[in-house]
Amino acid sequence: MALHQLPLYEGVITRRLLKQLGEVHRPGELLLSVYLDMDPSRWGDAEGIRIAAKNSLRHLHEKIGQLPISNGERQRLLRETELIQELATLSAGRRGLRGLACFLASPVNLAYALPLPWPVHSRYFLEDRFVLWPLHQVLDQSDLFGIVLVDKDEARLYLGYLGQIEEMSYIFDEIPPKIRIPDAFGELQFRRKHVEYFHHHFDRVAYNALRLWEQEPFRYLIVGGLWEILPQFESHLHRYLRERIIARWEVSVHAAKTELQKRLEQEESQLLQRQAEQVWRELNEAPPERQAKGPERVFRALWEQRVGHLLVQPNTRYHGHVCTQCQRLHLSGGPCIECGGSVNHVPDIYEEAVRVALSQSAHVRYWNSPALEECDGIAALLRY
Ligand SMILES: [Zn+2]
Repeated sequence: MALHQLPLYEGVITRRLLKQLGEVHRPGELLLSVYLDMDPSRWGDAEGIRIAAKNSLRHLHEKIGQLPISNGERQRLLRETELIQELATLSAGRRGLRGLACFLASPVNLAYALPLPWPVHSRYFLEDRFVLWPLHQVLDQSDLFGIVLVDKDEARLYLGYLGQIEEMSYIFDEIPPKIRIPDAFGELQFRRKHVEYFHHHFDRVAYNALRLWEQEPFRYLIVGGLWEILPQFESHLHRYLRERIIARWEVSVHAAKTELQKRLEQEESQLLQRQAEQVWRELNEAPPERQAKGPERVFRALWEQRVGHLLVQPNTRYHGHVCTQCQRLHLSGGPCIECGGSVNHVPDIYEEAVRVALSQSAHVRYWNSPALEECDGIAALLRY
């Protein structure tokens, strides 16, 4: 089957989606996994990104041309490469987009292009399965959020991840309309009934939230809705979920997705800030051999593959150099201090450090702080 378009994925990258991608296996055929570096801090502007993407895809195009495969398969792969090219051209410069991860398997009519808020190295793979490890390195940088909005008869469950938010379920439990009942006994009965209905509704929402957590184990939970009923609702939640609550929002269950997205962004940035502070504390309590402060020590640690956590001051830009042989980062030019190889100039050496750290599965946090400024905006907690 021929694919006609490659849309940019708008939802949350769920465990279910990753499982679906991981299970695709076509022995004897080649499946295309393409990662594209779409980072404005690297390529300058949208046009720069487009040119860079085009160059990477041209290599892929040439590679496909040389493969010993059937003409049909070659045409299919070339068509898929074209679709990626079209999407890269369209989405270059989009807000928050720093990388693309594309997985195409026309024979099973499957095509995903996942927008990533972290930089990736441009690379492609042609194997009988999708290659997901570079994606996992990015996914490891963020935590999944569950969001439950609830009022007396409705609820909405969302997942939030990497700047995206997606509604997972909607719950509605009809409550008998509030009518005046003349005699006191009848009124009491009616109220009791009402309370039962609330309990039933909250129980159902809590159960659905637990099921969602079982399927997509979110690390943090945000509850929101009608302020006065939140405590009651929370008492219905399973202990596992109550322990994960990090915020309470006074917000309607009918709140627009854009509003939720904005609130989540704030919540996430506060959380990232706290995590960065935690890393900084651990770094300072660690023995000296596990501390790297300032670019020279951090670059050395990256070269030795010892970085566990990297802290980088956002919007700090230094020119630098990367060794063409061993990829060692340097602030100054001249031959590589490790291997004597020649070096290439890069406009933003800290972004380069972020890339290298991600590719070593280190955790990276951008952190604005005077403490970090004193280390020239970069520091790392080493693994050993
Ligand atoms: Zn070198």
